[in-house]
Amino acid sequence: MATMNNSVLDRASEPETAANNSNLDSLPKPQVIYRCKKCQRLVASAENIVSHERGKGEQCFKWKKRSGDPFEREPAECSSIFVEPMKWMQTVQEGFVGEKLQCMGCKARLGSFNWAGMQCNCGTWVNPAFQLHKSRLDECLI
Ligand SMILES: [Zn+2]
Ligand SMILES: [Zn+2]
Repeated sequence: MATMNNSVLDRASEPETAANNSNLDSLPKPQVIYRCKKCQRLVASAENIVSHERGKGEQCFKWKKRSGDPFEREPAECSSIFVEPMKWMQTVQEGFVGEKLQCMGCKARLGSFNWAGMQCNCGTWVNPAFQLHKSRLDECLI
């Protein structure tokens, strides 16, 4: 059941419609924002997301494929999001090439980054990579 449903975040090219309608009537498309799970600080919103194609499981992990392990071949659900470098990422500002990403508010570790790229658990390489773990974030629709 592979739905190619990663379009929510990259519909940037919709034509401008009449600006007369009040925002209250025409329901805006839901926008995703991500908050630190611990302190609810806003860490990323939809426009910061760098989307990537889901890896193709078997092909990507061929090099470490083990026979008889069916789980190895399933394209995994991405367990993290990738974003563009942002102001709150202190270790990025400090000039590291690759480091942890900590919440500016509560110092919780939210992910990590590497200018040379990192591999999502779905198998796709993203570079440069600023990876935030979904498990550390609250995903909200606004
Ligand atoms: Zn992925
Ligand atoms: Zn926090």
